[in-house]
Amino acid sequence: MREMTCKQLVELVTAYFENALPTDERAAFDRHVGACPGCATYVEQMRQTIALVGGLREDDISPDAERNLLQAFRGWKDDQR
Ligand SMILES: [Zn+2]
Repeated sequence: MREMTCKQLVELVTAYFENALPTDERAAFDRHVGACPGCATYVEQMRQTIALVGGLREDDISPDAERNLLQAFRGWKDDQR
């Protein structure tokens, strides 16, 4: 079983919500979300956003938002040291 990183998860979140992930990647995604509070929060926020707007477009995920999120992940990891 491959392990998924936070960065990979962020890159795959659109496909995840479109049910476009292969079964094994989806399983890795779910496993990561179950083990990573940061990603669990991110996925939950995405779920709420999708529920609000009734869908997900590529435009909804800006490169800036991805970068901010990844910086936040790094911050959380530093805190745990
Ligand atoms: Zn993560």
